This record gives sequence, C-alpha cells and structure tokens, in this order.
Amino acid sequence: LPIEFKQALPVIKEINRHGYEAYFVGGSVRDVILHQTIHDVDIATSAFPEEIKEIFPRTIDVGIEHGTVLVLYNQDQYEITTFRTESTYQDYRRPDKVTFVRTLEEDLKRRDFTMNALAMTLDGEIVDLFEGIESIHEKEIKAVGNPDERFSEDALRMMRALRFASQLDFNIEVKTEEAIAKNHLLLEKIAIERIYIEWVKLLMGSHRKKGLHPFIETNCYKCCPELSSKKDELMSFSDVNPTMLLTSEELAWSCLLITLKETKIKSFFTKWKASKHLSNVVSQVVMYYNHRLENDWDAQSLYDAGVEVISLVEQARAFFSLPNDETLYLEKYDQLPIKSIADLSISGRDILSFTNKKPGPWLGNILSFSEKKVLNGHWKNDKDTLLKNIKEMVVD
Ligand code: ATP
Ligand code: MG
Repeated sequence: LPIEFKQALPVIKEINRHGYEAYFVGGSVRDVILHQTIHDVDIATSAFPEEIKEIFPRTIDVGIEHGTVLVLYNQDQYEITTFRTESTYQDYRRPDKVTFVRTLEEDLKRRDFTMNALAMTLDGEIVDLFEGIESIHEKEIKAVGNPDERFSEDALRMMRALRFASQLDFNIEVKTEEAIAKNHLLLEKIAIERIYIEWVKLLMGSHRKKGLHPFIETNCYKCCPELSSKKDELMSFSDVNPTMLLTSEELAWSCLLITLKETKIKSFFTKWKASKHLSNVVSQVVMYYNHRLENDWDAQSLYDAGVEVISLVEQARAFFSLPNDETLYLEKYDQLPIKSIADLSISGRDILSFTNKKPGPWLGNILSFSEKKVLNGHWKNDKDTLLKNIKEMVVD
C-alpha cells in the first residue's frame, strides 16, 4: 500500500468496526497501479452519510446530496462517499438524483471508465469487476458497459476520456471513441464551466496530442466555444512542440490562442466563462508575444508587461521554438529603476507644494513624463533631481 493509503487505514478500519464496508476507489487506485503520485484518496462505503457522521466526530458536509462527507482525521481529510447509483439522468447532465445502495458492485458499475472502476481493500487487494487492470496495462480508456448509454447519461464523460488520454498517454478504445463521435453533440447540454475544467486538463496533460487528436476526430471541438470553425488550427496546434509541457493554464491558453490567431480574446474568454484575471493576462501575453516578434524587450515594454507576462511571453516563444530567455529578461526587469509610478521619489503633492497652480490633468501628465524619464535612465529617481527638473517645466 502507498503511504497515502496507509495513513487512511484507521479511517477504513473505524468504518468496518461499525459494521460497514469501505474501500479505496476511483482514480487513486488507478494511480497506484500506474505508479503515479496520488492526488486525492477517495473512499467509498456502504454506510450512509448520516451513519458516517455518527462514526466520526469531525466531519464537513461537502456534497451530502451526492453522498459525500469530508472526514477530518488526525491532520488529514478524506472524502467518503456512500455507494450509489445515478438513477435518473435528465438532459444528459449529471443525475438529478442519486440513490444510495449497499453494494460495491453497483457503485463501480456507474463509474465512467474501466480504469476508474477499481476498488482496493485495506489489505491492498484489488476489486476489479470490469477488467480495469487489463485496461490500465493496455493503456486504454474504455467505458464501463455500453459506451453509447454511458455518454448519454453524462456527456461530460466524453471530455473526461479525452483529457485522460492526454494526461495518461492512453488510447481511447475503439467502441468508446466511436460512441464519442456519435454522441458529441450532447456536449452542448453540459455547462461550460465543467467542459472548461476538462479542457484545461487536456491542454496541460503531458501527451496533449493524444487528447487533441480524438478531440478533433470525434468532432467534440465543434461543441466548444470559439473552436468550432478552427479544425485546421487545432490540428496544427497539436503538432507544435508536442513534448513541451504547458505548465500553467495561462501558458496553455496563450499558446492556443496564438496558434488560433484569435483577435477577440476578451470575447473568446467571455464565452468560456473564464476569470477576468486569466482573460487579462492572456490578452497581454498575446499582445506582447506579437510585439516581440518584431522588437526586443526594452525598458518600457518590460515595465508595462510585468513579471508574469514577461515570463509567459518567453515561455510561449520557447513553445514556438523562437529564441527566448526568461531568466535574462526577468533580470532586466528586476534592474528597472522603478516598477510602478508609485516608486517615483516624488508625488503629486510634492509638485503642488511649489506652484500656485490648481491640480488638474497637467499634474498627471508631468508625473507620467517623469515616469518615462526615470524609466529610460534620463533622470535619476531622487527627490532633488526630480524637483529640479520638474520646476523647470512648470510655469505658474
Ligand atoms: P484525477 O486524478 O484527475 O482526480 P480521477 O479519476 O480521480 O482523476 P475525479 O474527477 O477525481 O477523477 O473522480 C473520481 C472518480 O469518480 C473517478 O475515478 C470515477 O470513478 C468517478 N467519476 C468521476 N466523474 C465521473 C463521471 N462523470 N461519471 C462517472 N464516474 C465519474
Ligand atoms: Mg480524483
């Protein structure tokens, strides 16, 4: 057993002591077999949520309507979910109602892929009712049961298949991929926020191309905002530097939008319901990336862009195999005499104190003029120098 599971053993034993079953389940069991680092230890149990809350003194209701209770135990926390089936699916989305059941088998049956339908006992014995271990060894993503039915129950599973292909370097099993192609339009029923999460995981996966190809081939791209007319661009994106990992969401979107030659970036991200921060950062990265195609960084552009954007532009240049040097330009940024107008050794108040003029737009103009002078090294950033230079410019 991996250390993460060992730490959770007392929790499972405690549930057992009260007469209920409990197993490690889902992605964490898959990751153990793959010898990959475990993100979160999920536990499934025959106990109902209320019963779990009676066993453990410290719990948090995180999704009790889905049967999930967060148990705080020692320094750790565990998501414990009651065995369940998802009986009524409306609108091809998540079920509107879950039914708690008492057997592990029924719980495993409703899981998305055979590789994710595994359970492990406290002795490290694997419960594999759907040939999940074989799938993992074959590196295949295969729906549990009839793929057509599974994707009509919950269309998001199609995006999950694609992102797992990218993250795990797996292939989507033939019938499963055919069912995705057949059902791709159902993605239009899925909330964009949920598609977004899987899409970013796909872009940031270490085998992007493995996910992007079936994403294009099965026509899922046609159901994603602003991508539906970009087949060729998506195809060429999948071929750019396929082994370079896109290490942040900002970098992933920037490289994508540069390849798509997207010009309306703000409205692109509105459709994806992305955060304002992401939308702003990517807009700037694309702008400075284009600027940098013809110009070297200078004091003004480094100053305007700032650390985050400078790094991302250099990383994007690496992605597109252009000369780049993140360290050098961050150093140059570091050496700028000021990082913002607030760093000027003089303020508007200082300027007003030696003139009879009333405050007005002229004051801002003088400050930004001084900002430029200091930034470009023409003026030293000390109060006396600045006052002297400014006094020469201001006539009462
Ligand atoms: P990750 O390593 O990205 O967390 P994961 O397999 O743990 O991958 P989660 O989204 O954390 O994925 O889900 C945990 C488990 O719940 C899955 O392994 C799967 O068994 C089940 N599951 C999650 N989403 C679905 C879904 N839409 N349909 C069916 N089963 C699902
Ligand atoms: Mg998980």
